[in-house]
Order: sequence, then C-alpha cells, then structure tokens
Amino acid sequence: MQNLTRNNTLALSVCLLSAAWHPPALALSATATAFDRHVAIGLPQAFALPRQADDEHGPGIDQVVIEERLKTDVAYPDGSHATTYIGKANGQDAVFTRLGEALSVSVLDAPRATVATSHAVPPVPEADDAILPTSMRPALADPRPAGTPQAELHFWIFLHDQAGESNYAKFHNWYIAWWVYDMEQTVTPGVPVKITIKDHLPGVTDFDYREGRAEDSLLSFRNAADSYLYRMGFSPSSLTKVMLFVGARPGNWGGAYGMALIRDTVAMASGTGPRHGVAHEFGHTMDARHEHAQTRFPCVTNMSAYTIGLSSCRIYSGENDLKIREYVRQTIERESDH
Ligand SMILES: [Zn+2]
Repeated sequence: MQNLTRNNTLALSVCLLSAAWHPPALALSATATAFDRHVAIGLPQAFALPRQADDEHGPGIDQVVIEERLKTDVAYPDGSHATTYIGKANGQDAVFTRLGEALSVSVLDAPRATVATSHAVPPVPEADDAILPTSMRPALADPRPAGTPQAELHFWIFLHDQAGESNYAKFHNWYIAWWVYDMEQTVTPGVPVKITIKDHLPGVTDFDYREGRAEDSLLSFRNAADSYLYRMGFSPSSLTKVMLFVGARPGNWGGAYGMALIRDTVAMASGTGPRHGVAHEFGHTMDARHEHAQTRFPCVTNMSAYTIGLSSCRIYSGENDLKIREYVRQTIERESDH
C-alpha cells in the first residue's frame, strides 16, 4: 500500500472526505458552500477556498481557478450525482468534485506533455488479468434496439456487498473523478460518458465471484448484470460496460488485482489493487493493452501493473488513448449499422 499513501499526499490538497459518509440532511461544509457560491456566478472563476480544520494539510486557504464543468454524469446508489469541474489548485492542474455535502480536490501530478520513460524501477510482471473470450456472447435479448439515440459509453459499477465501499465521495475521488476527466477530455472526446454506481442488489452485488474459473465467473456476472439492466429498462450494447467491484481478491484470479474480458463488456476489480484498477480493467474492455503502458517515473500509466513504490499517473499512455478511441469509433459505427 506504499504507493497509495504516497499518492494520497500528492493528490489531495483539499479533502473533506476523512469523516464517514453522512446522510445528506447535514448542512454543507463552509468549503462546499463557498465553492457552490462562486461557480454559480459562471465559469471561469478564480477565488480563495478555505480548507476545513480537519484537512490533512491543516486549516488554510487554497487559491483555485475553476475553468470548466465536465458533462459526464456519475450517479451514486443514494441518488446523489457527482459534478466534476476542472481547473487549478495553487497553480497545479486539478479535478474538483462536488458530491453530497463534500467537495474534493484531486491534483493531477503527471502532466501529459512530459513523456519520460524510465526503467529505474522495473515493473513487476502482472498476473494475466485480461482474457480473450472463448465463448460467444449469449444473447439475452437484441442488444441493439432500433432508434437508439446518440451512442454513449455507459459504465456500470456494482459494489459487492462485501467490498466495504460505503463512502461514495471517497470512492469517487480515488477511482473515478480523474478518470472521468481523462475519458471526456482526451480519450474519447465527443462521446458522452455516463457512470452509474450501484450497491445492495440481490442477484448482482452478492454474486459469488470466487466460484469456478475466472472466465466463467466473468461470463456469469455479465449475465447477472445484463439481466438487471434489462429488468430496469436499459438495453445493454457493446458500449455498456459492467464491473463488479470487490474487496479481497479471489484465488481464481491467479494473483491479479482485477479481471476483464478483452473487447467485451465485463470486468472485475479489487479494492486491494492500485488507484488505476477501475480504469485498467475497463481499459481492457475497450482494447487498451499492457504492452502500451508506460512508466513515467514516479508513476505508471493506467494499463501498467500495480507497481509498489510508483503511484498511478491517472492517464492512459498516448498509444492506449488511440486504441480506446479506435475501439469506440468502430463500435459506434458497427452499432449504427443495425
Ligand atoms: Zn491488465
């Protein structure tokens, strides 16, 4: 967990997330209130933002510039929606998220422009977590209904009952906020992205992912998740990706921190893995590859293995950006032919 601790220090300049998740009835923090008041006037906005007394950096003031509000909607199980903004915190590129009564700031410490590949710390070979599906997708129903509106990438993350992920703001800051920013701005510009996170769904979030071979487990979970989506009135397409987010890793993953079917729609990730675990496993479903991952000391890009001592750059390599963009383009084209 060494890199998580290190990254935490780098990543959070303002963080109000240390307390347990509170019911929405609580009043907004002074920081969230100040933030809302400023962005309501219109963007861009530059202002001084007070840190909360229990912030890891202690009380103080951050100088922030809020440039733009992202379009991506991220819906949480309690009905709250995370709103993501991009800008600067004390001069560094940052992602700001308002969720519930909390504001979190994630400072991006890996500027995209400097590509310095270093082999000073050789990555640990990763257990193989990417499976090329050997069986055809069992059709639950026609996955491509006529008259589908504009194609969008819809990621569904199902929090396993035993995953212990009940602090949504913390989950969002750790795995999602920066990924949303990267997907919307760089990886698939112009393609709407939607993320829906669900928990406590019998038949889905209590799925026994420890049973059988990893590939069979992925296929069974895909069916369970797709069945849920159909019941809820959604028609999953190749651009509908589903993930089971679990706690401890099962033995059938062979030492990996996640599992995914390549260019398919299903993945699993463990909370014991790296910060880029969700981006990594969903990356496999969109044709991103290990061989294009890079070490950009002191961090690794999303398709790298979990490397102790190196943090997560929180971006894909340029080559994987292109792989994903091409996959999404071809998939949209194929689906629109039907
Ligand atoms: Zn992988």
